Amino acid sequence: MILESFNLQNKVAIVTGCNTGLGQAIALGLAEAGCKVVGVNRSAPVQTMEKMEAAGYEFLDLRADLIKQDGIADIIKETLQRFNKIDILVNNAGIIRREDAFDFSEENWDDVMNVNTKTAFFMSQAVAKQFIAQKQGGKIINIASMLSFQGGIRVPSYTASKSALMGITKAMANEWAKFSINVNAIAPGYMATNNTTALRADEARNTAILERIPAERWGTPEDIAGPCVFLASEAANYIHGYTIAVDGGWLAR
Ligand code: NAP
Repeated sequence: MILESFNLQNKVAIVTGCNTGLGQAIALGLAEAGCKVVGVNRSAPVQTMEKMEAAGYEFLDLRADLIKQDGIADIIKETLQRFNKIDILVNNAGIIRREDAFDFSEENWDDVMNVNTKTAFFMSQAVAKQFIAQKQGGKIINIASMLSFQGGIRVPSYTASKSALMGITKAMANEWAKFSINVNAIAPGYMATNNTTALRADEARNTAILERIPAERWGTPEDIAGPCVFLASEAANYIHGYTIAVDGGWLAR
């Protein structure tokens, strides 16, 4: 039965940055598909935990500041202590800093590159080693962006970080596909979350963005959950190194 290949019953999924926004919808979507979810956040994911509990889903709340990489070993250790295995990693945590390229500070460069790219890479490396030890393969899903494909305006480190994330998605896939590890990415379009509050508050930018989206609406966090469940499932076993745009048609324009 084809729908069985989308079933994630008893899979263990780590989702970074799931206290809100896309990460929360991804965590809930994976849980609904059958996963036990490990949420990695820098502050308590209060709302996510309430939703998980209300639905009766199993959720492990881990705390780490992903601007640094020194918490990664503990994330793996604590996940294994609780669930004995890892099947899925979603590198979702991300930040954006807006400043003209002329004035862009080194701090705004380093912080964004650290969270969006460096931590995503070293989390993937640590989880892939565990996948290999388990001998069952696994799924890594990176949350990229339209700015993996385009330049953007006033967000140079974000563009660099998300373009790099799409690049290393392919690089990791090339090395790990032979171990049945699928590394892919999702590139959300313009989604209504905290990340885009400033854009949506700017009337001129908001209008310009909406006019360019063929679907004529901002995306919602729930729009990302289905594609993420798909990439995390056996239905996607032969997809390696690909970045799926979930963008209301933005890139097709
Ligand atoms: P969001 O609401 O700002 O969520 C970002 C998540 O990352 C939050 O959980 C945040 O935690 C976490 N995070 C940030 N820095 C962290 C750190 N140092 N350590 C641990 N966690 C950290 O934004 P979102 O829109 O849902 O973004 C989710 C992902 O989608 C990001 O990678 C973003 O770049 C990407 N994306 C978003 C859009 C969009 O239109 N919204 C489009 C393309 C790509 P705190 O709440 O504690 O800060």
